[in-house]
Amino acid sequence: MEKQLNEKCAVVGVFNHPEASKLAYFSLHALQHRGQEACGISSADGIKIHTIKDRGLVSQVFNDEKLKTLKGQSAIGHNRYSTAGDDSILDAQPVFARYDLGEIAIVHNGNLTNAQQVRNSLIKNGAIFQTFMDTENLIHLIATSQEKSLLNRIQDTLKKVQGAYSLVFLSRSKMFAMRDAHGLRPLSIGKIGDGYIVASENCAFDLVGATHIRDIRPGELIVFEKGKEPQSIQVFEATPKHCIFEYVYFARPDSDIFGKNVYQMRKNMGAELAKIDPVEADMIVPVPDGGISAALGYAQESGIPFEMGIMRNHYIGRTFIEPTQQMRDLKVKMKLSPLKELIKGKKLIVVDDSIVRGTTSKRIVNMLKEAGAAQVHMRISSPPTTDPCYYGIDTPDRSSLIAANMSLQEMCEFIGADSLAYLSHTGLLKSVSSENNEYCTACFTGKYLF
Ligand code: AMP
Ligand code: SF4
Repeated sequence: MEKQLNEKCAVVGVFNHPEASKLAYFSLHALQHRGQEACGISSADGIKIHTIKDRGLVSQVFNDEKLKTLKGQSAIGHNRYSTAGDDSILDAQPVFARYDLGEIAIVHNGNLTNAQQVRNSLIKNGAIFQTFMDTENLIHLIATSQEKSLLNRIQDTLKKVQGAYSLVFLSRSKMFAMRDAHGLRPLSIGKIGDGYIVASENCAFDLVGATHIRDIRPGELIVFEKGKEPQSIQVFEATPKHCIFEYVYFARPDSDIFGKNVYQMRKNMGAELAKIDPVEADMIVPVPDGGISAALGYAQESGIPFEMGIMRNHYIGRTFIEPTQQMRDLKVKMKLSPLKELIKGKKLIVVDDSIVRGTTSKRIVNMLKEAGAAQVHMRISSPPTTDPCYYGIDTPDRSSLIAANMSLQEMCEFIGADSLAYLSHTGLLKSVSSENNEYCTACFTGKYLF
């Protein structure tokens, strides 16, 4: 398998606004949690598409001067997350190309599951690829489609790909936004001034002062054209299977995705978790930031006080100097530190959203015990992560997923906790008020959609 880099990302699009690239910039800021590896913006001024993209955070890549060069009334943007270290900015988005109909830029959140087959057949027919990204397939399919208009070419292209995608396309004069038939990744539409904005999460709308209109529907394509109301085309029948992990870990608590508020969903998960294997404890301690909302729900349900027993340093960013083996705890200590006086001699219930490889939990338990905690009971606000995600969340192979390889008891011993309990699958579905089986839960069940 070739590595795929367009995972766990954020997309935005602004149409018909005099400050389009600035709004895209601020929206990407609000969505920085969805990807810190690289970012980029393309703008269109009716004649030309301008693109700036690079590795780094939004605040590192852009400044006033650069934004001024991103002229035009429409713009799309992307934050990329990837664990694979790659120095090439070729893998940053937007992906841009010139083709027979003019110029096009694309941003993508998700993962195309038939990317390799599509790529092989394109290469066989003479296509040349510059990146490892499956998004580049879309460019080739659009360029080689026999359809006359870009709108028809986009629809033609999407019929040839399978997988998870929230996409925004920008031409010199139009913008298109599309979600896959399952609506795996979020994508919302809002109004700003005389124009429109689309974004992975509506926390971006709040920042720029846009009004949230609604989610783009699974399988829906929206066409933005100057002087016209946005046109909605239901390209595929909607068969909702939203990524439940967006609620568990990925989205920002102040966003409403899939029609529900993320913070509230996490609190519900915490409250459900409190009903499983209750233990006597002095305080509930969240692993910041991921575990905070669930820990609050746990505390409210159990009546045990909530305390910020672990502090997070928000300013370390990515560290490129790997601590040596002897200093392996340094990494977690740089990010998280215990409030010694608060936790000394205390029985703690520590809440985190998930355990992937188990290394974080192991280090946290060790750190809390070293700081004097009498007992550490680990509680996880999602079921055991037993299977990798192929739909746009970056998780390791099954061989590295601790829950795929150890029993609950073995995991508890591995992380060094006094007890370990997870939210059940039923508890998770109950927390998000699932009624029609409308969520993907494959990383907890192994039941994949395709
Ligand atoms: P691990 O050490 O691999 O068990 O990491 C678990 C921690 O990573 C938890 O605290 C989660 O909040 C966080 N996490 C869960 N899923 C992801 C992901 N896909 N990418 C990065 N961090 C994650
Ligand atoms: Fe989300 Fe898990 Fe499904 Fe991936 S497998 S889309 S992370 S629920």
